[in-house]
Amino acid sequence: MTGTQQRTSVLIVGGGPVGLTTSILLADLGVENVVVERRDGSSKLPKAHYLNSRTMEIFGAFGFADEVYAAGSSAEHISQTTWYTSLGGDDPTDRRIFMQLDAFGGGELAALYEGTSAYRSGNLPQKHLEPRLRAVAEQRTPGGVRFSQECLELTQDEDGVHAVIEGASGPERIDAQYAVVADGGRSIGASLGVSLQGLPPFMRATAIHFKADLSVWIQEDTSMLRLIQRVAEDGTMLETGLVGMGPEHWDRRSETWVINVVAPIAPGAPEIDWDNATALAHLRDILKLPELDAEIISIGGWAVESVLADRYRVGRVFLAGDAAHRHPPTTGLGLNSGVGDAHNLAWKLAAAVRGTAGDGLLDSYEAERRPVAARNIEWAMLTAFNHVATQSGWGVLPGVPPEHNLMMYAATLADTPDGATRLARLCEFLRTQRMEYQARHIELGYDYYAGGAVVQDGSPAPERDPFGLEYEQTTRPGHRLPHAWVTRAGDRVDTHSLLRPGAFLLLCAEPASSWIDAARELAEELDIEIAVEALERSEQAWGRLPGHDGVEAVLVRPDGHVAYRASSGGVEAADVLREALVVALGRAGNPAPSAA
Ligand SMILES: Cc1cc2nc3c(=O)[nH]c(=O)nc-3n(C[C@H](O)[C@H](O)[C@H](O)COP(=O)(O)OP(=O)(O)OC[C@H]3O[C@@H](n4cnc5c(N)ncnc54)[C@H](O)[C@@H]3O)c2cc1C
Repeated sequence: MTGTQQRTSVLIVGGGPVGLTTSILLADLGVENVVVERRDGSSKLPKAHYLNSRTMEIFGAFGFADEVYAAGSSAEHISQTTWYTSLGGDDPTDRRIFMQLDAFGGGELAALYEGTSAYRSGNLPQKHLEPRLRAVAEQRTPGGVRFSQECLELTQDEDGVHAVIEGASGPERIDAQYAVVADGGRSIGASLGVSLQGLPPFMRATAIHFKADLSVWIQEDTSMLRLIQRVAEDGTMLETGLVGMGPEHWDRRSETWVINVVAPIAPGAPEIDWDNATALAHLRDILKLPELDAEIISIGGWAVESVLADRYRVGRVFLAGDAAHRHPPTTGLGLNSGVGDAHNLAWKLAAAVRGTAGDGLLDSYEAERRPVAARNIEWAMLTAFNHVATQSGWGVLPGVPPEHNLMMYAATLADTPDGATRLARLCEFLRTQRMEYQARHIELGYDYYAGGAVVQDGSPAPERDPFGLEYEQTTRPGHRLPHAWVTRAGDRVDTHSLLRPGAFLLLCAEPASSWIDAARELAEELDIEIAVEALERSEQAWGRLPGHDGVEAVLVRPDGHVAYRASSGGVEAADVLREALVVALGRAGNPAPSAA
């Protein structure tokens, strides 16, 4: 092969949100990396927009959260989900808001969500997020973020990974110690022998992105998602999501919008392959605004599937984001899970490049993240299909004469005592959709207890809320460090703000001299960084840490998950801490490899 050759520590294939986040996190850990992205720019479609508070915490760790909040929605504008029958129309059932639900940490959920994270949920479409992430990545790694370059081939041997890249200046070879495949699952995975398990595409979704002034017809300013649901004249139930996509306003004045149209992929099912005129006719129809003045910006189709890679690691290559898991967008877990993958993987790769990790640490990436993805896929499917289940609350049935369904629909919205009873019953059905909009435990409460890079202590896991909201913070190994506002040197600080890139954090109760000495000794011995934070035993400091009873010290990994908790220190502090760090660095049973 002709062309140039470059060597780096980590090659990242794909400059979508997951690849770019991985690059930024690696750069902050001092790891040289190159991103190759075959597109010439960022996503043209708005795509993902909901950023949960765990993602915002991770963005906060690299100083990016405030930029996302400033560019996107305020908390108020994403605090509810609202169900409308239509935006326009003159029938008695038209223009009705028949249900509202607090969502994404808003309304009455605020105190609950604020109790478990210093970061609120965000809302910024991928179309606007990606260029910002790209700018941060380019600033961290000048010349290392290479758009309009496609990875054609990825091979590996004992020395590392070898990629053939095609760009404007011809073919090029990049050699690296490790590769992260964040290609959305469209190109490299199969060539590595990875197979995707689960349901292949079963629905076709079409997102119509359009420009229109809907402010006259929208009746509130609190919703990120507005659901249009009604029985059509032919007796079928219509449902579509309407999302304001900004970019200047995020309330009813949003300049652009997306509606999603979903159809099954089945023999005989109609193909949705629309031109602008058909898309415009459709959105006028679904919104019941026949005269709507709208400009179609883009029409993007994608296949909805439910798949999980059978392996996340193939030797020196790691799959992350949509390359490893894809599922319906309900609950907004796609991009968010991918950012979680990047965060779990980056510090492990950095430790491997530095030579301080055992190979087991790299194995723990799959052991920890694959079960999280499996759970997220199940949740996304559950919350997608629950939309169909909740429609039963109208008493509307598929396959019955249209008159029956239209009669049930009108009766539910009638301004009579009977209508009120029916509506109350419908709302009870719709409230179960809180699984999608109030999924705090799904977003924050996953754990890595069984993943191999934490010291299991035999304690039981907290109970799981079947509806995904209740989230009991705990210092149980593998769980996310509980968020709490603690007083430290007179200041009120978030426990997560005590984490430093690449460093373990030993959070302990005063007096802590034995822990401080042990951490100093082990940092030198294992060639790692350990930040020690000793908190006063007062109600404002150590006492604030959820689940602190009987616990004297908590060892937290660089990704903010607890590796180990100790009930006593004293003379044994160095021994117990050494054992815990050996496990947390994947060095149990396999010593640290020499840095390549
Ligand atoms: C309509 C819609 C709405 C969604 N809403 C949400 C939401 O609200 N919240 C949420 O969390 N998720 C949502 N998702 C999912 C979300 O968009 C994806 O999960 C997310 O884009 C995954 O990011 P990624 O970086 O893993 O992959 P991608 O965004 O697919 O990026 C992969 C990149 O790799 C590049 N690439 C591929 N092959 C190569 C190659 N060989 N060489 C170089 N480059 C290559 C591609 O060009 C692409 O840019 C939504 C998805 C859709 C379609």
